[in-house]
Amino acid sequence: MAIVSRTEAQWQQPRPNVSNGTTNGSMSVSTVTKTSIEKPLAAAAADLLSTLGEDLYREGLRQTPQRMAKALTYLTGGSTMTVKDVLNGAIFTERYDQMVLVKDIEFYSLCEHHVLPFYGRAHIAYLPAGKVVGLSKLPRLLDVYARRLQVQERLTQQVAEALQEALNPRGVAVMVEASHFCMMMRGVEKQNSTTVTSALLGEFRDDPALRNEFLSIVRTGRNT
Ligand SMILES: [Zn+2]
Repeated sequence: MAIVSRTEAQWQQPRPNVSNGTTNGSMSVSTVTKTSIEKPLAAAAADLLSTLGEDLYREGLRQTPQRMAKALTYLTGGSTMTVKDVLNGAIFTERYDQMVLVKDIEFYSLCEHHVLPFYGRAHIAYLPAGKVVGLSKLPRLLDVYARRLQVQERLTQQVAEALQEALNPRGVAVMVEASHFCMMMRGVEKQNSTTVTSALLGEFRDDPALRNEFLSIVRTGRNT
């Protein structure tokens, strides 16, 4: 069994530039392909701010519509990426057939009901059937689906199904644990609640022992 827990430093890696297949640390996929929407987005953001009663000419807000446009373009950039682009060239033939689990993968997404962040950790496992994927690709795969307007349930299922389709493994297990700003800052204002979702495919769904093994490894080292 291979278990990987990623450190903060590993999150700082440059993102791939899908348009030419090279790595470019300064320009992300989303800024390459979605720049065209930044101008109308900035205009809409200016409308939003002035509707809120803000003075767009005060010093702190002068560039805010542009910054909002850039941030939103980046945070929804996953919809311009494809799983094929992200995994391309990183699927290898291997005889290893035990569970591969990358746990505690940090992610940030936006809830589609309030356009407020939800964030947390994902744990992604699969049982290879002749093919393995480069370990750093699993966090990237997660970002494809996290960087868009989402609900946690769909995010979990989409990551599992994408991995199933890409590798055709004997099974896939994905668990997502997240905190939602729409619950923390507004509504019920519960700061300490965590929402847990999981998607189990193939042998993980059919074999309780395997499912329990996944769960116990995910919980190892937790205080809560
Ligand atoms: Zn929400």
